Amino acid sequence: MSLLKSFLPSIAPKVQGWIEEQRAKHIGGARVLTDGEHERLAGYFPDAALTAARVKTVQRIENPPFLEGLLKQAAFFGIRVQFDFNGVSGITFVDCILVKEKAPSADLLFHEMVHVEQYRQLGTEGFVQAYVRGMVDGGLVYERIPLEAIASEMTARFAAGEKFNVADELAASLRARGYLQDDNTGRQGKC
Ligand SMILES: [Zn+2]
Repeated sequence: MSLLKSFLPSIAPKVQGWIEEQRAKHIGGARVLTDGEHERLAGYFPDAALTAARVKTVQRIENPPFLEGLLKQAAFFGIRVQFDFNGVSGITFVDCILVKEKAPSADLLFHEMVHVEQYRQLGTEGFVQAYVRGMVDGGLVYERIPLEAIASEMTARFAAGEKFNVADELAASLRARGYLQDDNTGRQGKC
């Protein structure tokens, strides 16, 4: 694992470049949230975040070009992973949410909006650092990536009808994990 960790510095910039590329490719053809979607998520997310978010329905979600090499390296270290973006129903590039369904479920949109908020609080670079570090620490198991675990846990509570403020809880959670420093909270107002 420590060998795998040594790849971190080389992986993160590639992931960030891919995220920015994908966002640029899709943001133009993406739509705003429908009134119904906005209403359903209101109260959980800052209004500005819901207004700024974009959604695009795509045929397939592509794997990043460097994924194959990364998985080969992992296999070399005896780590067998199944990480295939083709199997996911949604993915978020900063404020641009890609989904496969024409009318994504509220749960799916909620999950992806938690990622939008993660990007907003951490910045793209901070998001990538936390995500990639989480991937490596968790042995490349999707569910063990803290940013995914947080999104899934919050989505389960949303689905159960609980009301809570995602931005506030997320900031506390990111701070507790050391992803967000106290002096960085001013970033929340930006983007
Ligand atoms: Zn996710």
